[in-house]
Amino acid sequence: MKPKVYVTRKIDDEIVARLEAAADVAMWPEADVPVPREVLEREIRDADGLYCLLTDTIDEALMAKAERLRIIANMAVGYNNIDVAAATSRGIQVTNTPGVLTETTADLTFALLMATARRIVEASDYLRRGDWVTWSPMLLTGQDVYGATLGIIGLGRIGEALARRAKAFDMKVLYCNRTRKPQAEERFGLTYADKDDLLRQSDFVCVLVPYTPDTRGLIGERELALMKPTSVLINTSRGGIVDESALYRALKSGAIWAAGLDVFEREPIGADHPLLTLPNVVALPHIGSASVRTRMRMGHMAADNLLQALAGGTPPNLVNVPG
Ligand code: NAP
Repeated sequence: MKPKVYVTRKIDDEIVARLEAAADVAMWPEADVPVPREVLEREIRDADGLYCLLTDTIDEALMAKAERLRIIANMAVGYNNIDVAAATSRGIQVTNTPGVLTETTADLTFALLMATARRIVEASDYLRRGDWVTWSPMLLTGQDVYGATLGIIGLGRIGEALARRAKAFDMKVLYCNRTRKPQAEERFGLTYADKDDLLRQSDFVCVLVPYTPDTRGLIGERELALMKPTSVLINTSRGGIVDESALYRALKSGAIWAAGLDVFEREPIGADHPLLTLPNVVALPHIGSASVRTRMRMGHMAADNLLQALAGGTPPNLVNVPG
């Protein structure tokens, strides 16, 4: 008998076909609506493998219903939606999709940085509203990107790819990280700084750490108060890392100049979210890795992980060591 795989969202036929070659596949049929919890709870009961997204909360209560589950393959590099400790103690492997989305997410992070610095969205809206009357000396003036100081909090794969882009813009790049990276310092000309110094000195601060109990609220009122009034905060990692209420107050009072956000504490946010009332916020609906090629690569990588685990092997992107 083939193992059963449950897929929590409608994914590309090519990937489904690969899974079907090795397993009986059941799939939530909607591409743009997440699987309801009660459906997931029902489907997980007899599933051997789960193919899921960052929008699915895979917690201990869900795993307790899953008698046969061996592998949870997340189609994302971040896996804060999964209780990894609970999976490990139940002998369930957990995998993610690192690397394939690094450059695409770094592109988006830099695009968001530039859009925020040069007020691209605000300027485009101004034009479309018919407000453009004349060229004016200080109209829609922003902050320079070239030659500015960029502070990267979290110099992992994406952080390093961002640093490379910044160097091409003649930026001075500071970073802070759990582990110091002398090789990256030498290779890309980066300067290590502690978090407070980085916040004080940077014109742009980009947050690129994973969301864990340690990084929750990493940027709060105290940290925002250290930043320059002309500085810009960019967050393309996960929402809960930046305290949104503190950020709102800092943007409203002019403690910092602007923010570019791809991620939010509770996603999706509605059009009535307080941060969207501020003109100095550029907000995106979590599209960091959203290029056609990269999303397909992530989809295939999650399938590779799942298939390898079902075949009894060690999946290439295992994030835990189940007992
Ligand atoms: P990564 O290679 O694991 O890099 C994470 C970096 O953060 C590592 O260098 C790590 O330090 C550092 N770090 C961890 N905890 C820290 C802390 N408490 N303080 C300072 N630094 C800390 O991950 P990645 O592939 O670059 O991805 C980073 C995150 O981006 C993901 O976890 C995900 O949440 C987010 N992401 C978002 C999107 C999007 O669509 N917006 C797309 C892709 C990824 P060490 O070197 O010591 O381990």
